[in-house]
Amino acid sequence: MANVVSIAAAAAASLPWDVEAVRADFPALAQLVNGHPLVYLDNAATAQKPAVLAALENYYQRDCGNIHRSVHQLGERATEAYERARRTAQAFLGAAEPREIVFTRGTTEAINLVAATYGAANLRAGDEILLTGMEHHSNIVPWQLLAERTGARLQVAQVNDRGEVEMEEFERQLSPRTKIAAFGHVSNALGTVNPVAEWTERAHAAGAVVLVDGAQSAPHLPIQVGALGCDFFAFSGHKVFGPTGIGVLWGRAELLEAMPPFQGGGDMIASVSFERTTYNRIPYKFEAGTPHIAGAIGLGAALEYLQTLGMTRAAAYEQELARYGAERLAPLPGVRWIGQARERTAVFSLVIEGVHPHDVATVLDTEGIAVRAGHHCAQPIMDRFGVPATTRASLAFYNTRGEVDRLAEGLEKVRRIFQG
Ligand code: PMP
Repeated sequence: MANVVSIAAAAAASLPWDVEAVRADFPALAQLVNGHPLVYLDNAATAQKPAVLAALENYYQRDCGNIHRSVHQLGERATEAYERARRTAQAFLGAAEPREIVFTRGTTEAINLVAATYGAANLRAGDEILLTGMEHHSNIVPWQLLAERTGARLQVAQVNDRGEVEMEEFERQLSPRTKIAAFGHVSNALGTVNPVAEWTERAHAAGAVVLVDGAQSAPHLPIQVGALGCDFFAFSGHKVFGPTGIGVLWGRAELLEAMPPFQGGGDMIASVSFERTTYNRIPYKFEAGTPHIAGAIGLGAALEYLQTLGMTRAAAYEQELARYGAERLAPLPGVRWIGQARERTAVFSLVIEGVHPHDVATVLDTEGIAVRAGHHCAQPIMDRFGVPATTRASLAFYNTRGEVDRLAEGLEKVRRIFQG
């Protein structure tokens, strides 16, 4: 829980958070939806964008060339901007070297990459892959595919009634056969912040390699991969206020070097003949073909923006919003809130007795309030709590107490409509 403790400390010492100034950087927040000022509470699905748009426009309108191969000015500018984004991602994660940053399409592709390369090269029949009961489908299905190919088995650390995996349960599922442990840092469905540094230590002691799915932590917590101790860390650009279609896999250089390539094609090779192909050095070995150049540049701009804001201050503000949200939503009659972990981000997964989550979200939308209704690509955790779906409000550092009030009022309206 080092992250959350340090957030609390920073909260006490922090500068005031000027949420209105921050909001002014996000043009999409300033619109009316169904006649009401938009309240955007679907940040776990995708976040709104700040200065990223200018970086995309600049690439497409000024620096549009392919990377790593053109000697002309535009190609050089594009290459420089793309590699600068890699260095920004390195700094954002506290990684040792830029070559440990692989650009992918997102978290999903990053996990698939590790499963298909490291996993296929190192797992055998009878080996185990440790997951938790709160994983996103992206951190389940790639391992199932790997298990089918290799004969390895999935072990699942179960979730308690608060929406946490207890350490004893985590350790119970580890064994000398565990070759990979892959778990989310923060649950998208519940907001639970997992003690990933401690879990990593235990998994390493059992001899496993550790992948952390950071899709929901990178937007909300300061990340230092060295402090987490993991071997791989994945996140998505669109959830850290950057473009869609781009993400990052961080991996330890020695592991990435030893892994076979993921896809074959241009840029990932050193030399090709029909008899034999040799591969490029990392990270290029894993970036076959023309990548999402504009996306990487846009992601770099988003990460620079976050660094300027300060992730520790942003997280401290969000923790305050989470506390306020809990105060505001807890007394609402007929509203059940699943996942009440002691360490949480500002995510509220709600069930209103007798009302389908899609109806809740539809009524909220008429009030200009955007939330997500569904299983949140995490069906096993929905099953665990005995619900097919929830209505999820997920907040970011640009949300306000006033918006939390609007959510609470919207939920009251839902209850009036459906429960009379
Ligand atoms: N893991 C978690 C915890 C997520 O919340 C998500 C996205 N909802 C993903 C993985 C997959 O991310 P993407 O769709 O951007 O690849």
